[in-house]
Amino acid sequence: MKDVIVIGAGMAGLTCAQQLKQAGLDVTIVEKSAGVGGRMATRRLQGTWVDHGAQLISVKSDDFGRFVRKLQDKSIVKEWTRNVYQLSSNGLTPPAANERHQRYCCPHGMTAIAKYLASELEIINNARIVSVNHRDQKWQLLSDRQELMETRAIVSTIPAPQFLPLFEEVLAPAPSFLQALQSVKFAPSVTIMAGYNSSYEVPEEWQAIACVNDPILSWISHNSSKHPDTSSQPVFVFQSTAPFARQSMDEADLEIAGKPLLNQSGRLLAPWLASPEWWQVHRWRYALVEESLGVSCLSTKIPIPLVCAGDWCAGKTIEAAYHSGIAAAESAIDLLK
Ligand SMILES: Cc1cc2nc3c(=O)[nH]c(=O)nc-3n(C[C@H](O)[C@H](O)[C@H](O)COP(=O)(O)OP(=O)(O)OC[C@H]3O[C@@H](n4cnc5c(N)ncnc54)[C@H](O)[C@@H]3O)c2cc1C
Repeated sequence: MKDVIVIGAGMAGLTCAQQLKQAGLDVTIVEKSAGVGGRMATRRLQGTWVDHGAQLISVKSDDFGRFVRKLQDKSIVKEWTRNVYQLSSNGLTPPAANERHQRYCCPHGMTAIAKYLASELEIINNARIVSVNHRDQKWQLLSDRQELMETRAIVSTIPAPQFLPLFEEVLAPAPSFLQALQSVKFAPSVTIMAGYNSSYEVPEEWQAIACVNDPILSWISHNSSKHPDTSSQPVFVFQSTAPFARQSMDEADLEIAGKPLLNQSGRLLAPWLASPEWWQVHRWRYALVEESLGVSCLSTKIPIPLVCAGDWCAGKTIEAAYHSGIAAAESAIDLLK
């Protein structure tokens, strides 16, 4: 039997598992996807890396700053830009002086951070937890591969709306815990990854753009500017607003779900952006936290040790997920004493 099973190999789960391992506990991560990183997601397309989840890393706290510097020393992370331009119907405007702080990116895609964190951890991939129970002071987790796993404690790092249906029954004796999780709200997002003819010139101001008050578009990244191979074709990432994503989340035809984003970027920036040589669509049902809990993690001993972690505990960024993972490890160690 394991000391701790961590559900989810995103930033929170990986950070937590590392801390638990360092504390001498026997820990395994169970992850539904084939890879690691969760919403720090990268797709390998046309010979390059395209980030279709998190676009950049910002640093607020000293602790996270030290972590990012360590990643910089290992060439996993590099400085990307201080300038996020704003795009509205009046055109592009440069950021105000107090908005010009450093943003970081990964030359080999955001998942490089997760791969680095995962390198010495025990991870079971392609295993979605589909039911949870407890017996004789042990958690029993069942995966969609019909594997039964037993553990003394669980750290769940999956988004709260996905956690609730899994744990609602076993947490009936802890109604306030469930109530807290019900208050967490996520917004969906539609993301387009698009590659263009290499003859197009991309202005420097297009590197990172926040769209202001647009009904469809919320963000544009010149993804190629993150990578060492600047000679390859321009690749962009477009992200939708939450209202647009809500409307198109259940649209069966991905082209219909995604094309308005390309058309809108063509209208707002340059007509050629509406006609890429290739493009792919990814839909995130749980993309960005709209309402977080306001605590670094949430734990209970009823019925037996359980900790919830993730960006949604105290924020909406990679940094929030990092802090939550660290706090969850401390909490799990306490619960197991
Ligand atoms: C489109 C988009 C853009 C973003 N942009 C930025 C940005 O620019 N900067 C920034 O800081 N943040 C950004 N974010 C947010 C950032 O990605 C997250 O804050 C962070 O990655 C969350 O990490 P996490 O570990 O809390 O959760 P996740 O990364 O969601 O990890 C949860 C993991 O649990 C797994 N899982 C779920 N259910 C199960 C199950 N039943 N069984 C097993 N495994 C399961 C999932 O596959 C996933 O790997 C963005 C997110 C999206 C989607």
